[in-house]
Amino acid sequence: MSRYWSESVQGLQPYVPGEQPRIGGLIKLNTNECPYAPSLRVLQAIREAAGEDLRLYPDPDCSQLRQVIAQHHRLQPEQVFVGNGSDEVLAHVFMALLRHPRELLLPDISYSFYPVYAALYGIATRMLPLDGEFRLRVQDYLDAGPNAGIVFANPNAPTGIALPLHDIERLLQGNRESVVVVDEAYVDFGAQSAVTLIDRHPQLLVVRTLSKARALAGLRVGYALGQADLIEGLNRVKNSFNSYPLDRLALAGATAALQDDTWLAHTLSRIVGSREQLCAQLLELGFEVLPSAANFVFARHPGRDAQALAAALRERRILVRHFQRPQRIAEFLRITIGTEAQCAALVEALRQILQAGLGE
Ligand SMILES: *Cc1c(COP(=O)(O)O)cnc(C)c1O
Repeated sequence: MSRYWSESVQGLQPYVPGEQPRIGGLIKLNTNECPYAPSLRVLQAIREAAGEDLRLYPDPDCSQLRQVIAQHHRLQPEQVFVGNGSDEVLAHVFMALLRHPRELLLPDISYSFYPVYAALYGIATRMLPLDGEFRLRVQDYLDAGPNAGIVFANPNAPTGIALPLHDIERLLQGNRESVVVVDEAYVDFGAQSAVTLIDRHPQLLVVRTLSKARALAGLRVGYALGQADLIEGLNRVKNSFNSYPLDRLALAGATAALQDDTWLAHTLSRIVGSREQLCAQLLELGFEVLPSAANFVFARHPGRDAQALAAALRERRILVRHFQRPQRIAEFLRITIGTEAQCAALVEALRQILQAGLGE
């Protein structure tokens, strides 16, 4: 606390990201990064961009990158907005499109950054509970009536559960007066994308990131897709905040990443294969595992304390994520899919921990 802080800063409750350990040698399964190196083409493009042109500002419109993203999704460049990670994109979305007098609707269990942006911009929220199986009930959103907007992740985080495309379509058909934001950070790992609905639904905005499936969390690139007038609203906010959110290296790397779908297909199949194997092994160890369409699993062991399990794993140099709140998910661990060897090490550590009776 400082008397020099703006009043609005005093009440903020910032998002707490997963631990980024400074010591090496840990098996890091706590922040849903990709366990494999990014495409070599990306590294090559960044190397080439790391020259004397760094003295010049980057393209403020990110024209080439937006062109490549548009092509990739069969859209027009005017339907693409890019930002410094999808977290920044989401912040601009809240400011530009969701800051209205009514309540913003979102699931009670979802990406915990959403309520943080809402509080930052003074947006009232209403959390609608997921059902007993942690699924989003579209009807609840339609019954809620007029709202400031709707935001959710598909697949959801931290559950990993995907919402089928026909449910998203039903939501859009019943909610035309406010923006519906679908955060597709994990969509490549097994959910259906809502991008195909953009041309028919002017209130739909889809948000993507290169951090998860493209293995570029360190490059900080995310984007939003929607009809041109939504994108223009985002540009107004961006150009009132930072004209150059993407540096030259990020632009070069992201452009190359979007052009290497062979790398993507190969990496996705490895991770999805490991996910299916890990799910089976966790079930064998007595865990309950929610059906995951993401690069992580959400699992609980009946009768064991999740926080104690996470602590015991940490002693064995394995990091996973545990959320104290909301209460409904305090029994769960969120475990990122690692390499085959990392998954095997995790399973072996859990076997020892359970045998030793830890967390009972
Ligand atoms: C990881 C994540 C993001 C943030 O991605 P960045 O592009 O790295 O900022 C956004 N939404 C969800 C649901 C995520 O899990």
